[in-house]
Parts: sequence; C-alpha cells; structure tokens
Amino acid sequence: MSYDDQNIFAKILRGEIPNKTVYEDDHVLAFEDIQPQAPVHVLVIPKGPYKSMNEFSAEASDAEIVAWVRAIGKVAEIVEAKEPGYRLIVNNGEDAIQEVPHLHIHVLGGRRLGRMLQKAD
Ligand code: AMP
Repeated sequence: MSYDDQNIFAKILRGEIPNKTVYEDDHVLAFEDIQPQAPVHVLVIPKGPYKSMNEFSAEASDAEIVAWVRAIGKVAEIVEAKEPGYRLIVNNGEDAIQEVPHLHIHVLGGRRLGRMLQKAD
C-alpha cells in the first residue's frame, strides 16, 4: 500500500490542521500528542512521506535519518526529560496497533512509566 497523503500527520505537515509544535527543522516536525499518555508526550515525525519504519529505514536519505534521530534527542532536552528519563516508542504496523500511517516516534516521560509491555488484548 502506498503512502496515504490524507492521513492526519500529512495534514498537520501541510498546515491544514493545527498542532502544538515542540521542535521543527528542514526534515522533522515534533509536536504534542493530542491524547497524552504521560505528562510529556511528544511525537517526532519525518517531513517526508514515510508510512512506517519499514519505508524510512530502507528509503530515507542519510540526512533525513540523522535529522530524525538528532531531533529526538533535542526534544528530550527541550521538554526536560533527559533526566530522570523517558521512553521512546515506535508502533510499526498491525501487531503494534499503529494508528496513523506516517512514521512517528512517541517521546514519553514526566512520570514513572511502569513496565514496558502489558499482556496483549
Ligand atoms: P500510534 O498508535 O502509534 O499510531 O499513535 C498515533 C498517535 O497520534 C496517538 O497517540 C494519537 O493520540 C496521536 N494523534 C492523533 N491525532 C493527532 C493530532 N491531530 N495531533 C496530535 N496527535 C494526534
């Protein structure tokens, strides 16, 4: 399946719906999650049309990959989560229950986060 340019993050990137931006550069946008699961909950997305880590890891340029990884670190610093810590999550595909088909990494923190995984539904 090809990239769906009507997905919600594509609309955010085009400025069609608002977002609370935490960080932005040429390749990356980071913004607050609309339904935060922790006091800190930021999504960091590449600006390019990548559905998931599958496409991004195989097809993105080195510059895009470097920018995304660096941006994750910058966001952790901006939201003051480097200490005492934070969690990064990428839901990739159906088993991970990826809801939005544009690659995003969740940056979660601001409280003790508990165990990494729960039992499946
Ligand atoms: P995932 O299940 O990994 O695909 O996560 C999708 C995330 O996008 C969820 O945490 C949603 O709360 C978040 N989300 C959906 N729509 C928006 C929006 N308009 N602005 C910010 N976050 C959103």
